Amino acid sequence: MTSESQLELAAQALRGGRIVVLAGAGLLAATGLAPPERRGGLWDQYDVVKCATPQGLSRHPELAWTAFAAWLDQVRSTARQAGGPSAAHRALAQLDALGKLRGVVTSTTDGLVRSSGVQRVAELFGAIDRLRCTECRQRQDAPEAFDGPPACVHCGAPTRPDLVLFGEEMPREPRERTAGWVYGGGGLLVLGADLTRPPIHRIPEEMMQEGGRTVALGEVESAAVSRVRGIHIAGDLNLLLPDLVSRLS
Ligand SMILES: [Zn+2]
Repeated sequence: MTSESQLELAAQALRGGRIVVLAGAGLLAATGLAPPERRGGLWDQYDVVKCATPQGLSRHPELAWTAFAAWLDQVRSTARQAGGPSAAHRALAQLDALGKLRGVVTSTTDGLVRSSGVQRVAELFGAIDRLRCTECRQRQDAPEAFDGPPACVHCGAPTRPDLVLFGEEMPREPRERTAGWVYGGGGLLVLGADLTRPPIHRIPEEMMQEGGRTVALGEVESAAVSRVRGIHIAGDLNLLLPDLVSRLS
C-alpha cells in the first residue's frame, strides 16, 4: 500500500473525535536536534550520572548546570528558527488551532511542543526551560543565561531544573492529565514515541478500550501498533504530519 492511501486511512481513523497525541524522541529529532540519549546528543558530551541524577546534581553542581545550560541553549536556538522548530511541530500547532486536539503527551524534556503554541501539553518528565524552587517548590521560567542555580523569584532559595532526573519519581499531575485525555479521547496519534516504555506503553490499549483508534507515524515499534490493530506509517514526520493534518482540516 502506498503511503498516500495509508495516510487517507489514517485520516479516516482519526476523524471521529478530538485526538490525543503521544510525542517522543522522533518528534524532537524532526527539528534536527539529537535527543539527549542518542548518539551526538547531550549525554555523549556530558556524564549522565554526574549531571542527570539527584546525587550527581548535588555532588557536581557546576558540571550539571553547564550541561543544563547547553541543552537549553540548543533547544532555544531551535525554537527561534524561522517559522518554528520543524514542519512537524508547526503541523501539530495547526491541528490544535483547528480544535482537533485534546492534548499532547510528551516524553521528551525540550518543551518544544509547548513553545510551538500547542495549548494543552502534559510533559511527563518536565521541561528544561522551567525551574523549580528547592525550598518553596514554586516554578518559574529559566532565564536566558545562567551559570549555576538561578535564585527563586519568590523566596530567593536556589532553584533546580523542573525535570525528572534519573532515579526520581514522575510527578502525578501530568500523568493524571494524560489519563483524563485518554478517557473519552477520539483517537491516538503517536509521533516517534517508544511504545515499549512505561508509563506510555499502556496508552494505546487504554485508548482502544475507549473505542479510539491508534495511528503511529515515524519511528514507532510496529509490533506495539499491531497489538491495538492500529495504522503505522514509517517515514519523515516533517512530510507525513503536515499531509495528515491537511487531510483532517
Ligand atoms: Zn522559592
